[in-house]
Amino acid sequence: MSKEKIILTGDRPTGKLHVGHYVGSLKRRVELQNSGNFDKIFIMIADAQALTDNADNPEKVRQNIIEVALDYLSCGLDPAKSNLFIQSQIPELCELSFYYMNLVTVSRLQRNPTVKSEIQMRNFETSIPVGFFTYPISQAADITAFKATTVPVGEDQLPMLEQTKEIVRKFNSVYGETLIEPDILLPDNKACLRLPGTDGKAKMSKSLGNCIYLSDTEKDVKTKIMSMYTDPNHIRVEDPGQIEGNCVFTYLDAFSKPEHFAEYLPEYGNLQELKDHYTRGGLGDVKVKKFLNNVMQEELAPIRARRAEYEKDIPEIYNILKKGTEVARQKAAETLSEVKSAMKINYFDDAELIKAQAEKYGNN
Ligand code: ATP
Ligand code: MG
Repeated sequence: MSKEKIILTGDRPTGKLHVGHYVGSLKRRVELQNSGNFDKIFIMIADAQALTDNADNPEKVRQNIIEVALDYLSCGLDPAKSNLFIQSQIPELCELSFYYMNLVTVSRLQRNPTVKSEIQMRNFETSIPVGFFTYPISQAADITAFKATTVPVGEDQLPMLEQTKEIVRKFNSVYGETLIEPDILLPDNKACLRLPGTDGKAKMSKSLGNCIYLSDTEKDVKTKIMSMYTDPNHIRVEDPGQIEGNCVFTYLDAFSKPEHFAEYLPEYGNLQELKDHYTRGGLGDVKVKKFLNNVMQEELAPIRARRAEYEKDIPEIYNILKKGTEVARQKAAETLSEVKSAMKINYFDDAELIKAQAEKYGNN
């Protein structure tokens, strides 16, 4: 079996990408891409998955494909090194899902904690689309189709990776060693596992409208930071403040580097000193927010500038996606063919089967 190191990951085109995506997965992908340690990299725009809970809003999905692609390129994903592709253009993925469905029980799907909370969030309780309910299976198809060994994603994807591994084990035990068990690669930085929204809600999410987008203008970013949720009991500057659950500090955990202090806030040596002062009292939110704004603008400015360049030639972006999709489709087709041979549903290629059946009927 191949020992290639392969990455598969992606995003749903339900909106522009935000800084939660960036710290949770996108930044890591770019680093992995540039490390040269991977043989193949597949980055998927998961439009078919996005349709599982946006069936009545296909235009939203269609419009956002280009937005996600622009965000990818502006963050440094390089089409010469990474295949950027569109999920729905690879029918092999549906075929794989269809066979994997036989390896998973309804009760197993019902136990998936991410799907459970997403069902609640979308008020789907009494009307869950079957496609949405089964999307962890389709995600297993996406990952295994490319024989991915490494899946860099945020924490909410842990249950999906568990589900995928179970399907791989079950498939391999029933039909023989065919599929590869992937490893999840979570961010090392705890604050990046699940970046909260600017409103303090547990997760920054396109669907919750509490995001700082990678494509936001400098002014928008500043406005969002200045009105960010902090410690509601920290009213006057003298009041002692709380760090836990305070978005501004979570974002500083995610974005600030030691050198930012010398540059923008030289009266503090590091983040811990700033946190200590806030906890003691005597440090106002505005000062911390201004610092966070400097830190985040520094990270986002080059991304914004690259986006403006890519926006000048949109047909070329579709071209990049088309080429990436062709390469991805070839790989998925190879895997599907191996899967069908393992399942022995490759009748026309199976000379032994044809011969045995012929003998049974006395043909010679
Ligand atoms: P939707 O609301 O449509 O589900 P989303 O904002 O949750 O959108 P996805 O496309 O589902 O985004 O997620 C894409 C990737 O980004 C996944 O790897 C996911 O783990 C990661 N991710 C999404 N939101 C965050 C976040 N707030 N913090 C860290 N990682 C995140
Ligand atoms: Mg999501």
